[in-house]
Amino acid sequence: MAFNRRTFLRQGMHVTTLLAASTLSASALGATRLARVTANPFYLGVASGDPRPDSVVIWTRLARETLGNALSRNEPVAVDYEIAETANFSTIYRKGSAAALPELGYSVHLDLQGLNPGKEYYYRWMLGGEVSNVGRTKTAPALDATTESFRFGFASCQQYEHGYFTALDHMAKERFDLIVHLGDYIYEETWGANNVRHHNAPEIYTLDDYRARYELYKQDPDLQAAHASAPWAVTWDDHEVDDNYANAIAVDEQTPKQLLIRRAAAYQAFYEFMPIRLPSGRQGASMQIYRPLQFGTLMDMIILDTRQYRNDQACGDGMKPSCDQHREPNRTLLGEAQKDWLFKRLRTSGSTWNVMAQQVMMGRLLRRNEQEEEMFLMDIWDGYPDERDELLARLKSAQTPNPIVLTGDIHSNWVNNILSDFSNESSEVIATEFVGTSITSGGDGSDASNTAAQTLSDNSHVKFYNRQRGYVSCYLSKDLWQSDYKILDKVSEPGHPIRTRASFVVEAGNPGALEA
Ligand code: FE
Ligand code: CA
Repeated sequence: MAFNRRTFLRQGMHVTTLLAASTLSASALGATRLARVTANPFYLGVASGDPRPDSVVIWTRLARETLGNALSRNEPVAVDYEIAETANFSTIYRKGSAAALPELGYSVHLDLQGLNPGKEYYYRWMLGGEVSNVGRTKTAPALDATTESFRFGFASCQQYEHGYFTALDHMAKERFDLIVHLGDYIYEETWGANNVRHHNAPEIYTLDDYRARYELYKQDPDLQAAHASAPWAVTWDDHEVDDNYANAIAVDEQTPKQLLIRRAAAYQAFYEFMPIRLPSGRQGASMQIYRPLQFGTLMDMIILDTRQYRNDQACGDGMKPSCDQHREPNRTLLGEAQKDWLFKRLRTSGSTWNVMAQQVMMGRLLRRNEQEEEMFLMDIWDGYPDERDELLARLKSAQTPNPIVLTGDIHSNWVNNILSDFSNESSEVIATEFVGTSITSGGDGSDASNTAAQTLSDNSHVKFYNRQRGYVSCYLSKDLWQSDYKILDKVSEPGHPIRTRASFVVEAGNPGALEA
């Protein structure tokens, strides 16, 4: 029987369920094979992500205007791929084809299976005589492997208008085992003075708007280089949808219904443009992206989502004194289902390092207003103190080995000791938090500031603070974790060199950061 796409659909199998099946071939979807295209369709480059010991997702997206009649007929298009063990493709390890679906904007996500653990692979895509650039990827070590060492970089917050993505090109040159992106990959709106580049449109709301925004960002050569250099693990923050949204609540006059419609469009675009493995590709306004990635017995990386399920920011959001809403028990940043899953993972993990890759700062950041009242940022963990206490109590009772928190969002570098009780600066250190600055958001930034001294004196668990742009490079072995804070002097001009501003280590079994 001819197994075409329509047959599948008639049998009640949704296209996106099929996408999850790695055995899905282009022909199974009745994809059109184009003998020739009008230009190179791979203008957004290549990417890979979510490595497992035996699989990794490889990604690309086709330029619609190169597809001719297939586009006007809304036909799926067959894209060929090749996998090799060396960058010159002297021996082809595997080849095949996958379908680019019009429903997903002609993006392709292929979950390559049956790979070997802890191994480097190279991949490229081909269509109608055109070939993509080559991507390098790497599978995770075997689950029971006592991996000697692991190197990854993490980044966040890349407002295109605020600067050049030079830091991402420097990340590409590191040839990491993994790049982690903690969100604000795109920005839905224009803000800031002295912008050096410009969005192609005002604030975005529809699926077409979000697609166009990702297309603009993903044409950046530095971003493409970083994607081609290593597998990524991505999560989102607020600007993938709307500034400081909380679940279905927007900061401005949108109704929850409007925000959920917008969120569905934004989440679909996120899936379309990211090398991410999802149970199904189109899920509407809800999309579970919290998930684990395990790297041998060395590291369990728990990717969290602190936007989709949270309660609204307390006390009207912003930097505020506490109010009744702020102190309500059971206010949540994670949502019940994610929290239960996280706690179970923390209780059962046997990995040496247990990493929570998430968005908003966990370490307390206490400031005082002119009346000497205590002030807190309501968008970060400080705005959800009851749930933070619960998490810290769980980490302690579960004796989760070496918890490390990775954070983005705040456009500045911080190293924080996470204390069992932030009101008592001599209380036990439970975990170590590394907060990474933005790639560009906020513009060039500066090293020291007057508020820094005051901030640090009120918050002695803060070990480092810096407001320049860059990323954090992490090296871990079974005895030691090291985070190098890499910064550039300027993002308002392209091509600035990168340098290490500070390095901190954590000794296994001894929570808290030590300056290296
Ligand atoms: Fe941001
Ligand atoms: Ca943010």
